[in-house]
Amino acid sequence: MTADSRPKDNAIKTIGIVGGGQLGRMLALAGAELGLNTHIYCPEADCPAAQVSSAFTAAAYDDEAALSAFAAAVDVVTYEFENIPVATVAHIAATKNVFPSAKALKIAQDRFEEKSFMRMQGFDVADFFDITDLASLEAALAQCDGTGILKTRRFGYDGKGQWRLDGDSELAAVLADLGGQAAILEALVPFEREVSILVARGQDGATACYDVIENVHRNHILHSSTLPAQLPAALQETAKNMAEKLAAALDYVGVLAIECFVVGDALLINEIAPRVHNSGHLTQDACHVGQFEQHMRAITGWPLGDATAHSNAVMSNLLGGQIEQWRDLAAQKATHVHLYGKADARPGRKMGHVTRLSPKNN
Ligand code: AMP
Repeated sequence: MTADSRPKDNAIKTIGIVGGGQLGRMLALAGAELGLNTHIYCPEADCPAAQVSSAFTAAAYDDEAALSAFAAAVDVVTYEFENIPVATVAHIAATKNVFPSAKALKIAQDRFEEKSFMRMQGFDVADFFDITDLASLEAALAQCDGTGILKTRRFGYDGKGQWRLDGDSELAAVLADLGGQAAILEALVPFEREVSILVARGQDGATACYDVIENVHRNHILHSSTLPAQLPAALQETAKNMAEKLAAALDYVGVLAIECFVVGDALLINEIAPRVHNSGHLTQDACHVGQFEQHMRAITGWPLGDATAHSNAVMSNLLGGQIEQWRDLAAQKATHVHLYGKADARPGRKMGHVTRLSPKNN
């Protein structure tokens, strides 16, 4: 008798996850449901993902010996945030499959490359301009009626590395703040809504797309997500087609998140994330197969699951001290509380989330 009752026709048993935050934690938990082990690679010792994984390497992203040992210990590798160096992924990819590919990561890491790629593929984005100095910033602003958002090309998240500019802005001071980082100026988009589209793509090119999710940001951080978004059916279809086309163009494997602005009946892509996404957390509880399980399925060669929603849902992040509400939230009907195992509830830190379900009205 064998002690191992996992599926025999799939040799993938251990998934390496680079990055140790809450996304890695929820990927690991979803993997466990499928009988998969996870091995976390993360520089920080007490990370949320390592608490629920079977193995953990605490090492720097440029520690080649540790990366090689990690790659040797796992069957396939993924990553859970997009600011890891492309060189880290390339090093691992020399000996193990990494999904999504370094190509998708490289594009998503640089706003200029990302927006240029979207345009090349025929998708709409806000007007954007490469900024190298005061003259290029003034010229770009003149083309955007004097207003716009200056964004660092790299390493921006949750509103960090962004400056909203208008006629009153002290441009020289803003450029001093920017400190020589490469940047773009984006035209201000008069959007009616912000939405995200999550699509999973398997190694065989099959796709499973979730219904469009509507997002509200506060202080540049995601505050709440609602499924489904209030969009006409035709625009929902356009969004899904766009997501599938984009995933194919990137030769993508895994879950891809696409954040868009809705302006009338147009969708402008703001940015993509080559990973599971905060706005997709509600799929865990509201869809037959949620984003975390879907990602694990895609990278291990399982068939993709049913992305259909069985319920409507609203997800709210629990930031900093809001985690203290957990007891009240946990007692509410049709409510799922997810906590990330972080010890230090610093202001604004993502400590958990809560998803409230309601019946689907169709
Ligand atoms: P980002 O870091 O690019 O996701 O931007 C964070 C948030 O800033 C977005 O979710 C929007 O609410 C807002 N924002 C970003 N870019 C623009 C834009 N070009 N026009 C209007 N609002 C924007």
